[in-house]
Amino acid sequence: MADQDTIIIGGGHNGLVCAILLARAGQRVTLLEACPTLGGMAAEREFHPGFKAALAQTLYAMPRSLIRDLDLASHGLEFGPEPLPLRPLSLSAPPQSINGESLAGAADGDAEAYLKYVTMLKKFAAALAPFWERTMPRVGATGLPDLLTFGKLGLKLRLLGKDDMLEFFRVATLPMRDLLDEHFSDDGLKAALCWDALVGSQLAPRSPNQAVLTLLNRMAGKDAGQHVIPKDGMPGLVRALESAAVQAGVTIRTDCSVKTVQIEGDESGQHCTGVELESGETLLSDRVVSSADPQTTFLKLIGAQHLEIEFTNRISRLRNRGYVARVNLALSALPTFQGLDSPHGRLIVAPTMDSIEFAWDAAKYEELPASPVMEVLVPSLQAPGLAPEGQHVLVANVMYVPYDLKSGWTPGSRDELLNTVLRELERYAPGIQELVLASELLTPQDLASQYRVTNGHWHHCEPAIDQLLMMRPTYEAAQYATPIPGLYLCGAGCHPAGDVSGNPGRNAAKEILA
Ligand SMILES: Cc1cc2nc3c(=O)[nH]c(=O)nc-3n(C[C@H](O)[C@H](O)[C@H](O)COP(=O)(O)OP(=O)(O)OC[C@H]3O[C@@H](n4cnc5c(N)ncnc54)[C@H](O)[C@@H]3O)c2cc1C
Repeated sequence: MADQDTIIIGGGHNGLVCAILLARAGQRVTLLEACPTLGGMAAEREFHPGFKAALAQTLYAMPRSLIRDLDLASHGLEFGPEPLPLRPLSLSAPPQSINGESLAGAADGDAEAYLKYVTMLKKFAAALAPFWERTMPRVGATGLPDLLTFGKLGLKLRLLGKDDMLEFFRVATLPMRDLLDEHFSDDGLKAALCWDALVGSQLAPRSPNQAVLTLLNRMAGKDAGQHVIPKDGMPGLVRALESAAVQAGVTIRTDCSVKTVQIEGDESGQHCTGVELESGETLLSDRVVSSADPQTTFLKLIGAQHLEIEFTNRISRLRNRGYVARVNLALSALPTFQGLDSPHGRLIVAPTMDSIEFAWDAAKYEELPASPVMEVLVPSLQAPGLAPEGQHVLVANVMYVPYDLKSGWTPGSRDELLNTVLRELERYAPGIQELVLASELLTPQDLASQYRVTNGHWHHCEPAIDQLLMMRPTYEAAQYATPIPGLYLCGAGCHPAGDVSGNPGRNAAKEILA
């Protein structure tokens, strides 16, 4: 007899969301997390005594309905009073600041253009929003529910009106550069507006493919894609999810790494029967739900011997090289950025769209960018508990840093990258280097080993057109169920993709309960 109805592998936010929903529906759920703390890439970690930083810092992609359905407010989740402004940094131009629908400090014409641009994107994002929150139809499926999903998507787009619908089809796969060139004159502004379409992916402003769709997915979150920091930082969200899981009756075990998913079968078929832990312990269950990335799940925890060759090949070929590095700084005081009264908000260090493109060019050839582009945040301004009183944490998401470096990742190349980032920051915030008490660099390889994500990819695997929607991660496993009966996926590698949205976890739970 199975010890539980469902075992969830991984206590990142998606594993937690899935566990809560299954337990609330009456299932006996055990969640197993390899690390000592819950949260995965959103987990709190102390990188210097008294200074804490999760990888994920801001919430933008989680739908309001999920926060409400999980009743996270009653589990302690609170937000600051207002979303963070997006601020392109410039050494010469007056400061600009984007807040929701308003753009302050813009060149002539750009503020009006911005209102038009963001109104258009919001309309498209609202039309697509329901599709991030549901299972995509199976390729070739002709059942009524699948046809209804396609029909609803068509209707939603048609309801935009003919002109907007045609405009949606025109811009959906445009490179961000083309889209922004159509609307704005200021290149620094365009570079900042690119950021949320590109960060975490293998795309730059000139790349066609899914950048606009990624942006629209992110804009489906609670404040139309505006970024907020929970009152206690991202760990505040993780604690609320943990509390909701415990209340729902989920058994949570941390420091508990799954070694294999147990599969039994004969000529008539196979099914999963539980998991074996690294400790040697076996837990029985007819249903296992993995929030680990698809390659970890299928190639490490299950093994090719249990999979069809074609499926194994598709999983092996998933494009999932991470290109984001993280720099965390412990600062003795608040830094002063040129032209800003306070470093409040998301500060974009990318003076032009070409600067982003050049950084990507270097990474494509496995080299470090000469001038890194980055998003900088001082989360301790919103969540003072992240640093000792009067001191601050600064985090920088640095794009594009290759997983494999041509010259190899050595102490020398790590120092080179960290020093380049610090020098670049010093240009915008003179004197900042003197405030640095400690620094931490996490390359994509560090992210892979410390967060157990293959190749350190932000989304577990690239959300490219061929790895999206009913093809995510592959068409055989795109409905959360997998080719192995009883085995499901629920992490960022599933539809709709990564970010702290909770959508993969919720969709997987709905699919299991259907
Ligand atoms: C530098 C960086 C900054 C980011 N910033 C943001 C941000 O500000 N906002 C945002 O929304 N998103 C951000 N993201 C993306 C976001 O953090 C991820 O997409 C999201 O957290 C993925 O959640 P998940 O639950 O699907 O997977 P994960 O968070 O990766 O969780 C998977 C869990 O499974 C566990 N696991 C794996 N293998 C095993 C095993 N064998 N046994 C047991 N447990 C196992 C792992 O330890 C992990 O806890 C960022 C990503 C990066 C890299």
